[in-house]
Amino acid sequence: MARRRPAIGIDLGTTYSCVGVWRNNRVEIIANDQGNRTTSSCVGFKKTERLVGDAAKNEATSNPTNTVFAVKRLIGRRFSDPCVQSDKKLWPFKVIKGNDDRPNIIVDYQGAKKQFSAEEISAMILRKMKEVAEAFLGCTVKDAVVTVPAYFNDAQRQATKDAGLIAGLNVMRIMDEPTAAAVAYGFDTNAVNSPVKKNVLIFDLGGGTFDVSLLRINNGVIEVKATAGDTHLGGEDFDNRMVNHLVQEFKRKKRKDISNNPRALRRLQTACEQAKRILSTTTQTAVSIDCLYEGTDFYSTITRARFEELNVDLFKKCIETVARCHYDAGIDKDSIDVVVLIGGSTRIPKVQQLLKNYFSGKVLCKSIHPDEAVAYGAAVHAAKLSGQGCDKIRNLVLIDVTPLSLGTNVKGDITDVIIPRNTPIPTQKSHRYITCNDFQSAFDIKVYEGERVRCEDNNLLGHFRLPGIHRAPRGETEMKVYFKIDSDGILHVSVKEPVSGTKKHIILINREGRLSKQEIDRMVQEAARCRMEDELFKEKVLAKNSLEDYAYSLRKLVKNDIASGEYAKYIAEAVDKMIEWLKHDVPKDAYVYHTKKKELEEMSSTLSRMS
Ligand code: AMP
Repeated sequence: MARRRPAIGIDLGTTYSCVGVWRNNRVEIIANDQGNRTTSSCVGFKKTERLVGDAAKNEATSNPTNTVFAVKRLIGRRFSDPCVQSDKKLWPFKVIKGNDDRPNIIVDYQGAKKQFSAEEISAMILRKMKEVAEAFLGCTVKDAVVTVPAYFNDAQRQATKDAGLIAGLNVMRIMDEPTAAAVAYGFDTNAVNSPVKKNVLIFDLGGGTFDVSLLRINNGVIEVKATAGDTHLGGEDFDNRMVNHLVQEFKRKKRKDISNNPRALRRLQTACEQAKRILSTTTQTAVSIDCLYEGTDFYSTITRARFEELNVDLFKKCIETVARCHYDAGIDKDSIDVVVLIGGSTRIPKVQQLLKNYFSGKVLCKSIHPDEAVAYGAAVHAAKLSGQGCDKIRNLVLIDVTPLSLGTNVKGDITDVIIPRNTPIPTQKSHRYITCNDFQSAFDIKVYEGERVRCEDNNLLGHFRLPGIHRAPRGETEMKVYFKIDSDGILHVSVKEPVSGTKKHIILINREGRLSKQEIDRMVQEAARCRMEDELFKEKVLAKNSLEDYAYSLRKLVKNDIASGEYAKYIAEAVDKMIEWLKHDVPKDAYVYHTKKKELEEMSSTLSRMS
């Protein structure tokens, strides 16, 4: 009998990564060669060697342009993405446009200029984590679960999977970070086995990303109810605020500008990160750097109050996201049983205070390790997928949700939602549609994601055509459109027309031009703002469609000689006029269509009274 190979869980973080494994009936978080339980997500290139992890971070200040970090902000994105454009300005290493608008990182390595993709750099970090696990377990490791923020899109998930492949890993599953954290909470507190339902809010504020998720834990089932967040909000943004503040101070005091000097900036960044950490436990600290720029030393003090003031808008943004998340889940804040803090930046007292105030003094759960919880949950999931662990693991069921509504276009440029936002996945749903033109021979399907009513305001994921459908007068040929999201979050769309038997199936994988988290957030917020306008538009289109359908059915009635006589002729003319009017006139509101429909209805009832 062969022994099962261990499968590991990796939290591939923006600033730090962490690896765990299920062993001896519990999760072990594995320390690296330096004895640290988290490893810097950093890769340094030198003349003679390549450093990965803490060693690379330690040399970052002396080798700033060749020390690459935060690639999680690049992975799966395009070079032209506004986030990439603004991030690259802050980084001392160089990012250029590669093939297919992909961002490539340029470094001096072994005496030559070398280019790497974000996937390759991530693969170096993943390989390091694999080696950390192998050293601990004393055997080769292949299988892994790797976590990503809940809002990572297909391209970012696929790129993370590719990075795993490059690192020699078999990525069994890409798992959402908040789900992993919920698993860790569930196992740590035994809530996962309890028959009492618990609504758990996971507040995950890390180095580069922010995720909020609302989950329900009940009898071994962990169900994600809603997610929200920001892939561009975290500890590094708080550091940057302090850096900018001190750059200005240096300029004021020393009349020197360091903003174009990568080495000085990197040194200041490191000092600011340290100062920020200290300010989580004390109210004032010093930032002191010898020979920061052109032989000039820098010395300053910063208080916790000043740090909070510099970042207060970002902290408030976090609380607004929390509100949006439980609102989306349809769960009010008093029904949330536990608020679990994950991610290093939740140690900031102001963040905790704002969160506590929002939840009217509720105690925040800090019992699970904020830096290790995600890797813990990933390790549990890896054990489950590889058939290891106890009954508690075997019985565990995880249910994720889709972050945006998915639908198709219907007459009048309206998005007909087939799978609503926050539906648990995997899922499959279908809608029936009818043709809207006489003797139509093909059916065009456009697939959209987003929360707006008008198709043009949402994001087009794909477009395809079903030719050879049964030709008949408008409204008589029916088609069924199926949307399916599988457990990896990939969307499959198929359409079937039963009379001719024509059908088509497409998989929307690696969707072209997928949205970034910022875009998703913007779209959700915009949708909320524009709900009224959208409703009016929808009402108008529905009223128009209803009038048009009615006019055509009446035309059929009078033309098929079902009704005859002078009055029928009069109606036929009125209907023709109405159809013509519908083609050209665009009234301001639905009321006009309603009135016109009423006129036709009155004519029709007079006709039926006469016959
Ligand atoms: P994570 O991505 O969860 O590993 O979080 C890393 C972020 O947490 C980095 O930006 C750290 O600077 C930040 N962090 C870690 N410890 C503290 C602390 N004590 N106070 C404030 N921020 C911290």
